Formats: sequence, C-alpha cells, structure tokens
Amino acid sequence: MEFFWHDACLEHDTGEGLWELPGTPEWLDAAEPHPENAARLRTFRHALTHGPIAPHLTWSQGRFATDEELARVHAPAYLSSLYKDCHAGRQVSLETNTVVGPGSWDAIRAAAGTALAAAEAVAEGRTRMAYALVRPPGHHAQRDLPDGYCMVNNAALVAETARRAGRRVAVLDWDVHHGNGTQDVFRDVDEVLTISVHMRHGPWGANHVQTGGPEESGPGNLNVELSLGAGDTAYRRALDELAVPAIRAHGADFLVCASGFDGSAFDPNGRHNLTAAGYRDIGRKVAALDLPTVLTQEGGYLRGYSALCLHALVEGLVGVGPLLDDPLAYLPDDARPVDRDLARAASGRAARGPA
Ligand SMILES: [Zn+2]
Repeated sequence: MEFFWHDACLEHDTGEGLWELPGTPEWLDAAEPHPENAARLRTFRHALTHGPIAPHLTWSQGRFATDEELARVHAPAYLSSLYKDCHAGRQVSLETNTVVGPGSWDAIRAAAGTALAAAEAVAEGRTRMAYALVRPPGHHAQRDLPDGYCMVNNAALVAETARRAGRRVAVLDWDVHHGNGTQDVFRDVDEVLTISVHMRHGPWGANHVQTGGPEESGPGNLNVELSLGAGDTAYRRALDELAVPAIRAHGADFLVCASGFDGSAFDPNGRHNLTAAGYRDIGRKVAALDLPTVLTQEGGYLRGYSALCLHALVEGLVGVGPLLDDPLAYLPDDARPVDRDLARAASGRAARGPA
C-alpha cells in the first residue's frame, strides 16, 4: 500500500490557546497547542515508518495543487480571499477555531495536491489503494466556506476529479464529525454518493448549518448518525448494514475515504468509543470492497492513540495483524442504542432514495 506525503503540510501553524480557541485567557496558566497541529501528523507518519506495519508500505512524494485544481470544488472568490488571509503576515481566524497564517497556503495546496497525487497513482493503476497523509484536514470545507479546521476539501477534490474522469464515486467518511462539506459539495450530484458515519452533534454555527441527520439523506447522500458513546460494534454494524450495501447499490467503481481517528475512545474532540480493533475492522471492510481507493487524513487529536488507531486501520487495509497491542481498550462498548440509530439512519434514505 502506498502513502503520499508532503513536508509543506507541517508548515500550517495553528498556534495555541484555550484548546482550539486562539488566544489565552488570563486565568489560564499554560496555553495548549491547537489540536490540529503539525506534531500529530509527524506522529502518524512515525508510527507507520517505525511500527511493525512499515515493511508493507511504500512512500511517495506529494505535490502542490494548482489554482485550476482547487477551483474544481471551491469558488474562485473564496480561494482569493483564503489566499489573502494566509498572506496577512499574522494568524487570522477564519471562523471560531479555524485559523491560518504564514505557511498555511503552501500547506493547504500541499494537502490538496498530495491527495490528488494519491488519486493519480490509483487512477493510473500504479497502486490499488493510496493514503494521503496530509493536513490541514478537509471534510468540513464547503464550496465557499471554511469550517472546523478545514479550508479546502481534499476528499471532495479527489472525488470530483474522479467523477470528471467518468468514475462512479462513493465517499465514505468515518471521522467522528459529520462530513458536512463533502455532503454539501455533492448535494446535487447524484453520481457521487456521500456517506458519513458520525456522532450526533448537530449544526454548530454560521459555517456549519448542516444537521448530519437522516433528514439530509437522499439519493446521493447517507448520513449515519450514531449516539454519543457508540463504539466498535456500532461502526461495524453501520458499515455492514448500511454503508457497504449503499456503496454496492450505487455501483461505485472508485472509493474515497475521509479517514479520521477522532472517534476513538480517548479523543478530546469526539464522544465516541472506538478502539484500535474497531479501526482495524474498518480497514478490513474497506479492503473487502475491493475498489480502487484513495484515503485522505481528516481528524484524530489525541495524537498517540490516533497513531495507534491509524496503524491498526492500515493493518486492516493491507490484510495483516493484529500487529500492535492496544493498551487502552478498556472502556465498555455499549451497543444498546445501535438498533435505534441504524433504523433512524435507514429511514432517512428510504424516504428520499436511493435513486
Ligand atoms: Zn473530526
């Protein structure tokens, strides 16, 4: 399996503050690094290059996306304004917790371009599966709105590029937050099926009006909203009973995965309960779909445990393991709400589709 990387992704400096909020209130002795920071991506890479999965992986250099490529998904006026904010010479808050500064523009273009480089390797048959290990993440970014640490939607860019090449695309998003940006980009594009499995968190402000609920599901979108506390069982069943059948029914011949680890039991930004074994299972299910597949890195903020979960996911993707023990998988997996959650998710799609 091939990984794609670009050093410029580390140049996006999100600063520090009260967790994700820039600036430090007087009452706080020591500020914390913004959760979406360069150290998390370096930690992810280190786990894959130094863990027992390393011999199964190859690494390729990513590239910068061009303006034309970014405009496949984003409005030119939005991209100009983003460019200006990145070159203001200081940190600029685009919305509550989404910041840019010097270095961000190159990181944004590197994340998008590296995702495209991964997609090119898959489209050209050089590898069946490619993972773009990039930041900033992208799945909350809409055509003309930044949101939730995301400025450019890397997964949507890969999906749109594949769609223009005549592929029938499915996007599967298991970040713990709703892939609202990707849903929005493809809202009226039924050839691209978007699926998001996430915790029930609802809308969160002017740049995130989508609910993530079943009422937004339809012919081209499936939202699987899981109760707070959902764990390995809930995700396994969500994929087996809803996501995988939907991808098959769509007749997808190209898969894009928005891969987040903030659904882990220890993530500060999520209220789900996945363990490394749960991510290994997700990897196995994605591999079993046996489609040309591009994965883009989304969230995952407790960096050590996220790195372990990434390692486990990749074990599942390449069909080996378990290779690493999970010393933290001690919380109970409460599967009681799963039947109700899945029935609710299925009802939204039954009401309006699939096509
Ligand atoms: Zn997330």
